[in-house]
Amino acid sequence: MPQCPNCGAYVSPHDKVCSYCGAPNPAYQPPADDVNLLLQQGMDAFQQHQYAVAVDRYRQALDRDPDIFDAYFYLAASLSALGREKEAIAAMKKAREIRPGNASVDYNLGVLYKNLGQAREARAYLESARMKAGTDPALEDRKRMTKTIERELKALPSL
Ligand SMILES: [Zn+2]
Repeated sequence: MPQCPNCGAYVSPHDKVCSYCGAPNPAYQPPADDVNLLLQQGMDAFQQHQYAVAVDRYRQALDRDPDIFDAYFYLAASLSALGREKEAIAAMKKAREIRPGNASVDYNLGVLYKNLGQAREARAYLESARMKAGTDPALEDRKRMTKTIERELKALPSL
């Protein structure tokens, strides 16, 4: 299993840096051309709100190559936009396996569980997101993300 040489976390062969510590991935390889084409078609469809088409393209991309974070992340977002929250959660959890240090994934899982009325799971993922927001190297605005997470946490019904 590919590991970050700096911190030991899982790193996808298609990620340039570790999702926990941001160290460069020496084993990085870009996805194949046919997969890149499907990813592009998926993103085009997503941006045009054609979510069913996006789901189809991302699933095809993942059939060819299961290590692509963006494919799972936007597959989950597309499924959620179609009201298919449970499938969205399953896809987002796969994205989480690929980038375990990513705060946005845990945030999105928290919101998906909230939408399903599962406050306990929502809280667990939002708390995890708040922790990762302190270290996630992909975050451009740590403070803003932390605030967003805390607003969601406050809005959850207390158990
Ligand atoms: Zn690392």
